Amino acid sequence: MKVLCILYDDPKDGMPKSYPLNELPKIDKYPDGMTLPSPKGRDFNPGELLGCVSGELGLRKFLEDNGHEFFVTSDKDGEGCEADKHLVDADIVISQPFFPYYLTKEKIDKAPKLKLAITAGIGSDHVDLQAAMDNKIDVVEVTYCNSRSVAEHIVMMILSMVRDYHTQYSIVKAGGWDIADAVKRSYDVEGMHIGTVAAGRIGLDALRKLKPFDVNLHYFDRHKLPDSIETELHLTFHDSVESMVKVCDVVTINCPLHPETENLFDKELISKMKRGAYIINTARGKICNREAIAEALSIGQLSGYAGDVWFPQPAPNNHIWRSMPHQGMTPHTSGTSLSAQTRYADGVREILECFFDGKVIRDEYLIVSDGNLAGTGAHSYSKGSATKGSEEAADFKK
Ligand code: NDP
Repeated sequence: MKVLCILYDDPKDGMPKSYPLNELPKIDKYPDGMTLPSPKGRDFNPGELLGCVSGELGLRKFLEDNGHEFFVTSDKDGEGCEADKHLVDADIVISQPFFPYYLTKEKIDKAPKLKLAITAGIGSDHVDLQAAMDNKIDVVEVTYCNSRSVAEHIVMMILSMVRDYHTQYSIVKAGGWDIADAVKRSYDVEGMHIGTVAAGRIGLDALRKLKPFDVNLHYFDRHKLPDSIETELHLTFHDSVESMVKVCDVVTINCPLHPETENLFDKELISKMKRGAYIINTARGKICNREAIAEALSIGQLSGYAGDVWFPQPAPNNHIWRSMPHQGMTPHTSGTSLSAQTRYADGVREILECFFDGKVIRDEYLIVSDGNLAGTGAHSYSKGSATKGSEEAADFKK
């Protein structure tokens, strides 16, 4: 079979010759008891850079030893890109949300042999799920592989925005000691009201990690959490996003992007937020309206916006979030730490082993199966497409 894999570029100065840590901590299970990916084999050292082109997710030996053709590229956007050329006769496509190959309906229509789209990570909105359902292409992701990595990033971003870390770091880098400038927007999070839109694997983990900061925790989700968890974390449940955002100092967004959540944080919803609130969005860029966020920051309706998700990705150089005030953005990195890469590379291999052996892929990994939303997809997504507008990614200039 032909496997097409789209990964981000190698480091500018080449692949690392060594890494800061010699080994990764050992983790066997996720908090709900789900086991980590367990492929039959592994052809890389845990902790190596795997998510870039030369890292190849550690898959080349396995695929070629088993007689498959493996093509890896980062050239994924614009007319005539390498990925498009190889898509036409590919059986399997592997792509990462950090550097997504947007599998739009138009592209899917040009890929008659395509059977499986694997997301090396979590979040398969870069695939037109409706087109995948209509064309009986299965879509799978490595559920849980980086949920806790993202939750760590969320805590980091909440603290850095509220305490205004970026300003202080810039002053030091510039050789200064301007304490008044450094603290004129700096607060403690203690006592604040922090709410998550969605309390799934990431949202709930972020709430747990925030609890020791003595904050008031809120959540909005389509399903209520068990009473025992609400009691343990002293959670306030809201049955609408509006009800939650009007009382929160910090809102963290942790739902998947699907037609129900696209453009959820538009001008109207942002105007209902508590004045001066912060938004942390590590879910998907398209959940927030690009212009509305920039405008709210410029007039003080929002005090800060941070996250690592943009639309499209890579974000064009003139994307307004690069230049708006009080932003603490990173490129899409929270779910691709070296720790997470080991887990999702293992997960992709487990999925491929099951697929080639005709074995069942874990239910938790399924988003679309046999023409329908399935597994995690049936729980967390709704039908339809959220890939429109992705062609703008070709405007990114390296
Ligand atoms: P989960 O499937 O565990 O959780 C998703 C949660 O979102 C579920 O609780 C679901 O609710 C809820 N949800 C879905 N639609 C809505 C809605 N309309 N309103 C409120 N809640 C909703 O996924 P994860 O927590 O692991 O990941 C969540 C998302 O985070 C991913 O889909 C991805 O987009 C993003 N992500 C980002 C990463 C990064 O690197 N920045 C890495 C990993 C994920 P219910 O099931 O109760 O209906």
